[in-house]
Amino acid sequence: MTTATRKRAASRPGGGSSAAERVQVAVRCRPFTPAESRASSRPVLAARINELLREVRVLQSAWPSLSASAPPPPPSLSTSASSAWHPPHSDLEFDNLPPSATRSYVYDRVFGPSATQAAVYDTLVRPIVSDSIAGYNCTIFAYGQTGAGKTYTMEGERHAHSGQSGSSRDDPLAGIIPRAIRHIFSELQARQRDIEFAVRCSYLELYNEQLTDLLATGSVAPPLRILQDPTRGTFVAGLEEVPVRNETEVFALLDKSCNRRHTAETQMNKFSSRSHAIFTVTVHVRESTAGGEDLLTVGKLNLVDLAGSENIGRSGASNDRAREAGSINQSLLTLGRVITALVDNHPHVPYRDSKLTRLLQESLGGHNKTAIIATIGPCASNLEETLSTLDYAYRAKNIQNRPTLNQMLMRKALIREYAEEIARLRLELEATRAKNGIYLPPELYAEMEEARVGHRDGMAALERQLQDRLQEKEVLQRLATEATQRVQQAEAQARAAAEQLIASEGQCRRWQQRVQQLTQERDEQRYLLQCRIDTEDKLSKEAMTLLNNLTHALGDLEALHGQVERQARQQRQLQERLAGMGTRMRAGTDGLRQRWRAWQAEMEQALQEIMGGEEEADDAAAEDVYPAAEAPRRRTWAYPKKLSRTRATEQLLATFRSAQAMSNVAAAGAPEDDDRGGGHDENEPMRAGVRARHTLPGVGVVAAERPTESHKSVSTTGSNRSASVLSQRQTLP
Ligand code: ADP
Ligand code: MG
Repeated sequence: MTTATRKRAASRPGGGSSAAERVQVAVRCRPFTPAESRASSRPVLAARINELLREVRVLQSAWPSLSASAPPPPPSLSTSASSAWHPPHSDLEFDNLPPSATRSYVYDRVFGPSATQAAVYDTLVRPIVSDSIAGYNCTIFAYGQTGAGKTYTMEGERHAHSGQSGSSRDDPLAGIIPRAIRHIFSELQARQRDIEFAVRCSYLELYNEQLTDLLATGSVAPPLRILQDPTRGTFVAGLEEVPVRNETEVFALLDKSCNRRHTAETQMNKFSSRSHAIFTVTVHVRESTAGGEDLLTVGKLNLVDLAGSENIGRSGASNDRAREAGSINQSLLTLGRVITALVDNHPHVPYRDSKLTRLLQESLGGHNKTAIIATIGPCASNLEETLSTLDYAYRAKNIQNRPTLNQMLMRKALIREYAEEIARLRLELEATRAKNGIYLPPELYAEMEEARVGHRDGMAALERQLQDRLQEKEVLQRLATEATQRVQQAEAQARAAAEQLIASEGQCRRWQQRVQQLTQERDEQRYLLQCRIDTEDKLSKEAMTLLNNLTHALGDLEALHGQVERQARQQRQLQERLAGMGTRMRAGTDGLRQRWRAWQAEMEQALQEIMGGEEEADDAAAEDVYPAAEAPRRRTWAYPKKLSRTRATEQLLATFRSAQAMSNVAAAGAPEDDDRGGGHDENEPMRAGVRARHTLPGVGVVAAERPTESHKSVSTTGSNRSASVLSQRQTLP
């Protein structure tokens, strides 16, 4: 394997971490054997299987009368409990037992007496075999007392006449090994367009702590040794790994191996085996990757038929068999101690205490996928062993493994080389066997054959070592290249990081400045905010004060409105009064006008009289002008008693004319007053006063006095003016 490279670091045991996976544990209970049925017409049923609930219910203790050799029931059940139930002979009777009479175990799978070989294979074994084709190392153990069905489960029913295991294509009694072989080849052949594959088998027997190769070609197989290699781990040196091309070749190998197995007839089982048998199928699958390289997947399937777990007494073994049984129990006891140490997480797991545990190290707490099939018998006569097997299996449920995938990337030439080498060796072997090559003396031939076998084994071992070294070298080279690349990458990354650091420092400084600036701004803003808050406080206080003032002002305003309304009301009243006064004034004016006309007429008449009359006439005329009854009361002046006619006339005429002129003016202004409606102008009294000044003194006084009185309360200015008009009028000559 010059160019092999490992695809994953974890592809070899111990190569890396992978997900933990619990060991799967199944229990299979066989039916009553003819021998058991013969021994008792109604054998007592010791176990009840519930496949649906994956539960095994088993009697706590045997009924004392069942067998003379049976141990007495435990104290708790010996009197009251055992007398409360009757030994069951069928599932129905078993179901009616009180709970105190039975013990219950739950496993990953349970198979009852009626479970077929196919059912066991399909539900439990098939996925594991598929995993081994995919590149996992997998192990399936059969554990149980002799005669419980281990060999039946692993190999299938043996044909009594030939001693061959059930291996024909459609044999329903074929066990796990033939079914797995068929499964592997059918799956590989279905994919043979895309892949190249090579299958190799080995068959190892551990008997009395000695390892034997069941596929060894020599008549006497030499004992094998377990070796430890840093790259290969634990392996059996010189173990034959026979390449097989199809299932028929495998079945032929299996049949041949049967003759080598150490079997001994005991009371319990005619074909019971006192040896542990480990049948291993190694599957190499090569497929091309998209990158043009070959992906090599190597999966191993170990199928282990353990020796019977019974004790010496119950198996009936004696003398030299006792030693044999002792060693068997030693191996199984070590297996039990290993399981206990793993379950209890002991720092030391005693793998090295027995060859069995050394060989199975990777399957228990290692990197294999593991399943244990505990086989039990249904008969109460074996109850003690059944309980021990169930306890043993129940503990094993807690073992955790870390399965890893074995995949390697390698070049195409490698597997071709390997296949050619195998083909050449096979041809040599066949030629030697068929004796169609060179003939030699038997001793020399035996010697040569022995040497050849030794050389071949050595070569094979050396070849494997070489392959491993080359693989290792390849891996190391790849790792070195990868490491160099990583170092270069790391250097580049470091440079980039340094540049980034410098840039970051500059950025950092800028950020610090910015932070300082922002801090300054923040402090300023904070100060401003505080000022603003203070101002707002003050403002709100003032606003409150203003609000109060406003409320008071509103009150005042309302009061003012009331006043204004009162004033408006007063004004309206005043206007009404003024309107009335205007009406009265017009009436007064009309009266005056009439009187004026009458007076005019009188005056004209008087003039005529004067023109020809006496001085008395002047007096009379003067008195007519101001009749005593109508003279103004405040009049303090009077015409002179004696006036010359000329002067009086002129005065009178002047007076008249001016009066007439004023009268005309008044007459002309009167309609205007009427038009204005007289009561809406507040200056109306003043105008009336002014007009009155242009009338005759006596008339004007009457006209001027009234508005002055009526407006006294409204306007003092107006009354003053009226007073001044009056005084002016009084000072008239
Ligand atoms: P072990 O290998 O555990 O000593 P075997 O496999 O040799 O026991 O079985 C003992 C006997 O029981 C055999 O005759 C076998 O045919 C029979 N037997 C075991 N298991 C079953 C089973 N599940 N169904 C029918 N017969 C069985
Ligand atoms: Mg057996």
